[in-house]
Amino acid sequence: MPILVGITGGIGSGKSTVAKIFSLLSIPVYFADHRAKWLMSHDESLKIEIINAFGALSYDSEGSLDRTFLANTVFSDPEKIKTINSLVHPAVGKDFLAWASQQTTPYVLKEAALIFESGGNQALDFVINVSSPLKVRIGRILMRDSFRSEEQVNQIINQQLPDEQKNELADFVIKNTDNKLLIPQVLEIHQKLISKQ
Ligand code: ATP
Repeated sequence: MPILVGITGGIGSGKSTVAKIFSLLSIPVYFADHRAKWLMSHDESLKIEIINAFGALSYDSEGSLDRTFLANTVFSDPEKIKTINSLVHPAVGKDFLAWASQQTTPYVLKEAALIFESGGNQALDFVINVSSPLKVRIGRILMRDSFRSEEQVNQIINQQLPDEQKNELADFVIKNTDNKLLIPQVLEIHQKLISKQ
């Protein structure tokens, strides 16, 4: 099994951008948030758990996830957010381990927004936090996602641990401010991880 490394960071911190730089070094990256969406539509036991928790209307007549129904049902209720996370996170954790065991590189990356918040760090050997000032992050997201309002971005930020706490919990921190170069920081961590094998 390769060394398991998480890469996290608040919304707009640049974690996907940093993960893509690692993938240029031939390090396989598991994009957990994308994979979670796929599993919710394709993992039969997860689908049954979602139907048991939120009702048959969670899926349409062809068995595809009804994202609008689920968003309307879940995302205004913190208890329901906890419930869906308690179903999806273990399924993703299991799927990640199965994927990682097939890889042949010294280490692999799991990119996810909520690694510390979900306790997912317990199943990882190291975690990298990508850190950016809040104002820069909000600006990046408003520029990237025209469908989101500043209020919606702030709501998501409030569901995430503050950056300072994630920096303390992380084994490595990559600073992604506009005046910091990413590639040298990625290369330094890459060398350290390779030397741990
Ligand atoms: P999310 O949590 O929404 O998935 P993320 O942390 O994965 O966000 P990215 O998608 O990597 O963040 O970056 C957010 C936006 O900011 C993207 O449009 C990206 O191109 C841009 N961006 C990231 N880093 C920088 C940078 N150093 N300079 C300029 N733009 C950047």
